[in-house]
Amino acid sequence: MRSPDVRSRLTAKFFRRLGFAFGAWAAITLARADDISPLGRKPHWDRLERYQETITRADFARLLDTVYATRGYADYIQVGDDSARILEDRASGKTFELRFAGTGPRKVPRQYWRDIDQLGPSKKPLSGLNVALDPGHIGGRWATMEERWFRVGDKAPVEEGELTWQVAAILARKLRALGADVSLVRTHGRPATPKRPDDFRELAKTILARSGVPDPPETYDGPEDENKQKTVQWQSELLFYRQSEIRYRARRVNEVLQPDVVLCLHFNAEDWGDPKSPTLTDHNHFHVLVNGSYLPDELAHDDVRYEMIRRLLSRTYEEELPLADSMAGTFARETKLPPYEYTTDNVVKVGTSGYVYARNLLATRLYRCPVIYFEPYVMNSNEAFARIEAGDYDGTREINGVQRQSIFREYAQAVADGLAEYCRQTR
Ligand SMILES: [Zn+2]
Repeated sequence: MRSPDVRSRLTAKFFRRLGFAFGAWAAITLARADDISPLGRKPHWDRLERYQETITRADFARLLDTVYATRGYADYIQVGDDSARILEDRASGKTFELRFAGTGPRKVPRQYWRDIDQLGPSKKPLSGLNVALDPGHIGGRWATMEERWFRVGDKAPVEEGELTWQVAAILARKLRALGADVSLVRTHGRPATPKRPDDFRELAKTILARSGVPDPPETYDGPEDENKQKTVQWQSELLFYRQSEIRYRARRVNEVLQPDVVLCLHFNAEDWGDPKSPTLTDHNHFHVLVNGSYLPDELAHDDVRYEMIRRLLSRTYEEELPLADSMAGTFARETKLPPYEYTTDNVVKVGTSGYVYARNLLATRLYRCPVIYFEPYVMNSNEAFARIEAGDYDGTREINGVQRQSIFREYAQAVADGLAEYCRQTR
């Protein structure tokens, strides 16, 4: 990801400038079309009936206030003494009533994932643990479209989707050696979604028309074209690799793999400008994301609001946070990377390591199990770039005057050590 996610920030800015989801005009004319997020599905609120009386008022309010909706939710959720009223759909104004638990909460219904502390002791720390690895992005021929590609001079291009694949391949071997069952959420260089950008041209036109671009240009002229966001091409590409791709990965995670935890593997970056003449920086850092920090205009979508409540009620956070905090601590100790400090207001810092933030990403929201989302190394930092160019190798090599293992092995080892350490302590 380009941090602090330059693309979504630009998109938000673009829509804001056009009055999308903001202001009286937008609220009146867009209410219907905008009720469901792009490619989202109409939620089935009755499926939350099974969570009745499983959570106390205090826990519900605390999770909203400190993790999930830290920037306000008063337009959508009213927390009463004995129950909460949650807006089901904006069109009808219908609400869902969630009754709080009294003195003895009912047991939280079964999920497909299991708490690590329920797995019991074993010789190998990860025995019986079902881990899914999600190497971020697609890479290969899609890397430039994803804007996860840059090239310095005549050196090999840097593609995030390829780097994350290399880490996942090494990490899978390490985790299996520690006893885990490991699966991968995607295959190499191929999208998980069967859709392609052309499948989304009509939807892209609708989205653009709604945001005040009724007659959009078809194509844009390279990554530096400042009007690219207003083109059918750019919008349909975004629907393909951002929305559809993650939604298909989520189906595989939730319906086929059903892991106990998903580890999302990314490399971070700072804005590099022209990908064929990128800016390199001295900043290098690391952070981890878990799900949370839904913004009020995200909660305006019926499906997003439902997904947040479902996640809160499934109590994923109680497993996710200690695991993320512990793994982040190990990762930081082994790589010596400093914590990234966000300058945007779309996150909230959680836990005690100083490295973990809650943020509402599609993957952390839709994968219905604990998700630990790694964002180490700034790919276009002088240090990380030199290590990426050095490729994968045995032992250590001198890079900028320091003996280093390959960046891929260091990444994989630090993740494996963190998971093993947590499991040894918890089981
Ligand atoms: Zn990424």
